Amino acid sequence: MPQPVLKDKRYIEVALPVPLQKLFTYRLPAGLSDIARIGSRVEVSFGKRNITGYIAGFRGDIDPASQLRDSDIKDISQLLDEDPLVSDEILELTRWAADYYATSWGEMLKASLPAGISSSNRVRPKRRKSVRLITNVDPGLKLTDQQERIIEHLKSSGGEMLFTDLLERASVGASPINTLVKRGVLEISIQEVRRDPLSKSRNEVVDAIKLTEPQTAALAEIVEAGKTGEYSAFLLHGVTGSGKTEVYMRAMQAALFNGRSSIMLVPEIALTPVFSKRLLAVFGDEVAILHSNLSTGERYDEWRRIRNGEARVVIGTRSAVFAPLGDLGLLIVDEEHDTSYRQNEMPYYHGRDVAVMRARKASAVIVLGSATPSLETFDNAHSGKYHYLRLPDRIGDRPMAKAELIDMRDVFKRTGKDVVLSPQLLKAIQETHAKGEQSMVLLNRRGFSTFVLCRSCGESLRCKNCDITLTYHRRDGHLICHYCNYSVQTPSACPFCESEFLYFVGQGTEQVEEVLRKHFPSLKIARVDRDSMKRKGDLAKTLNAFDRGEIDLLLGTQMIAKGHDFHNVTLVGVVSVDTGLGLPDFRAAERTFQLLTQVAGRAGRGSLPGSVLIQTYYPEHYALRHAVNQDFDGFYTEEMKYRHRLGYPPYFVLASFMLVHRDLEYALKNARILRDSLDRANGDKVSRILGPAQASISRIKNQYRQQIIIKCENRRALRTMIDTALAEAEARGCDRRIIQVEIDPVNLM
Ligand code: ADP
Ligand code: ZN
Ligand code: ZN
Repeated sequence: MPQPVLKDKRYIEVALPVPLQKLFTYRLPAGLSDIARIGSRVEVSFGKRNITGYIAGFRGDIDPASQLRDSDIKDISQLLDEDPLVSDEILELTRWAADYYATSWGEMLKASLPAGISSSNRVRPKRRKSVRLITNVDPGLKLTDQQERIIEHLKSSGGEMLFTDLLERASVGASPINTLVKRGVLEISIQEVRRDPLSKSRNEVVDAIKLTEPQTAALAEIVEAGKTGEYSAFLLHGVTGSGKTEVYMRAMQAALFNGRSSIMLVPEIALTPVFSKRLLAVFGDEVAILHSNLSTGERYDEWRRIRNGEARVVIGTRSAVFAPLGDLGLLIVDEEHDTSYRQNEMPYYHGRDVAVMRARKASAVIVLGSATPSLETFDNAHSGKYHYLRLPDRIGDRPMAKAELIDMRDVFKRTGKDVVLSPQLLKAIQETHAKGEQSMVLLNRRGFSTFVLCRSCGESLRCKNCDITLTYHRRDGHLICHYCNYSVQTPSACPFCESEFLYFVGQGTEQVEEVLRKHFPSLKIARVDRDSMKRKGDLAKTLNAFDRGEIDLLLGTQMIAKGHDFHNVTLVGVVSVDTGLGLPDFRAAERTFQLLTQVAGRAGRGSLPGSVLIQTYYPEHYALRHAVNQDFDGFYTEEMKYRHRLGYPPYFVLASFMLVHRDLEYALKNARILRDSLDRANGDKVSRILGPAQASISRIKNQYRQQIIIKCENRRALRTMIDTALAEAEARGCDRRIIQVEIDPVNLM
């Protein structure tokens, strides 16, 4: 008998992961209308493809404004879940985020789910086949040699084995096993097994910790706020090594005790083995990890444990802010200033800011922690929007490392040449090693030299796809583009004028490694950057070896700058901070200040005092001066003046429109239409509009990039204006698909 169609559920509104800010109408075939739910996934045909979308609403009729007729509307291809995958809370949160960031709800929903769940090569639960011996073997039963072996091995392993292990150990094929199953001697069972990202850290013993007074005071405020059942926000400002992590863990424990779950966001690379051990010791199976280093299968299993309510404490990177926990009581964002919380592709969003909104909506407590808070967050603490908690000292009265600037102009004057490593830094490395202690050297650029310049004609060698110079990597003798990975054999002569006087300018990690090895042949040196750490697990292996003292000196990019806690490191050298300062980005000073404070925090974590040496050509720069003095307030005051003068956050809200296309003329034409529409929508001149102008990297992967930037003091006015302008521009023929809209961009390149 054909199923009736429920009248008010004839059509569904679907959020699709396509870069358009609207919902799409599809028809629900008879029989599905009573099982389809909001939040269920559906497969629909869109253009020439089949894609997965999410049911956002039902309709009995077609929206007259859409001007669609019933015959224009397609049936869905498939209903993928009866039990909706996406909870109401996450639907609401993603809808809010999509609106806030002027992006597609479907994209935001997709970003909120573990990778693989919506793709064609879908992840599935992992299953394991095992074999048991279920009866005592009748002595009269005639067995072949192979069958004898199978039974022997099973018996000696306690009666049960994995199917694959049995095949291997008894060196048999599947068929004798199957025969024994048919005869009723053995049984095969299939179980789901959990892919456990923390398996290596299980069963480790961890010492109990007694909180210090400032930790106790901070924790008490957070726990008290949690008891009210209302939203409240904290900034936990504590120097590196002041014990913030311990406060987070206790706060999550308290939340759990009160029946509420928690999420803790950590930066991309901060999930250290030490921290994992501590998590397991405190939370056992109630903790789930959603980290970008997990395999797709592990992430899927962890996500399902959260979804089922088995795991009530979630630790994860950016997208873990969307973890489907019920009864959320506490959100923590560790190192809240970290740029890895910003997603730098569609859908653009900031994990920290979404976390604040989720806390609001869930009436939960949020704690943002950092040694170097972002200006936005510190400003919110100043104005009273966030409660301010301070951990002023390092645990155990360990002194902060002593930092010092090395003026490379003096070094040049004295040595008469451009050296990579100053005599001061070399001497300090030598002395540190002599004392049996370890050093770290940071340089924020990989490769051998930064670019290649022709001394005869002055041209530099550039990527053919991007507007950027190529980096020389000596190991493979290639010039490589760090934006698109384009790679060419290094030429022996200038491609422009055929001169042979090619000059390799600037230093990368490869070159510094070479210099260090030459100076210190007896030191065990390891390099950590994206080239040397290509495989999963490489980084953890190297860091562990360093922790065990098997490496004397660790050289690397910012991958080594944060989070790690090495007790025998007493010297940190920073080879060149000036590249960071020179970037055409209003956050350059803030980033440099944060980076230096972070690396300085790596020195002297144990009982030994540490020192930090920073090589620079601009020792007068205020970011460097304040970093050396560990003076956050001084830096904040000076940087706020600059932000105010130039109209940047936190005083102004920023939006960026990047128009990206192969054809420069086309990008320009569209940019002009958009600019026109923006001007009209900005009738009362509340916003300042800049551009279109070519972006600081004007071409990437053969796509030209034209940029319009808007600054506005009023967020709501800005958002309204953007919606109005985009709609108008589209109506006037502007190609919406080539526009990447970014609200609160963290960098403007
Ligand atoms: P932060 O996150 O502020 O940089 P951590 O939480 O990593 O600092 O703490 C630094 C070190 O001090 C860690 O080794 C941690 O185990 C230890 N620690 C934290 N709190 C205490 C305490 N109350 N007593 C003793 N050691 C502590
Ligand atoms: Zn030349
Ligand atoms: Zn390139």
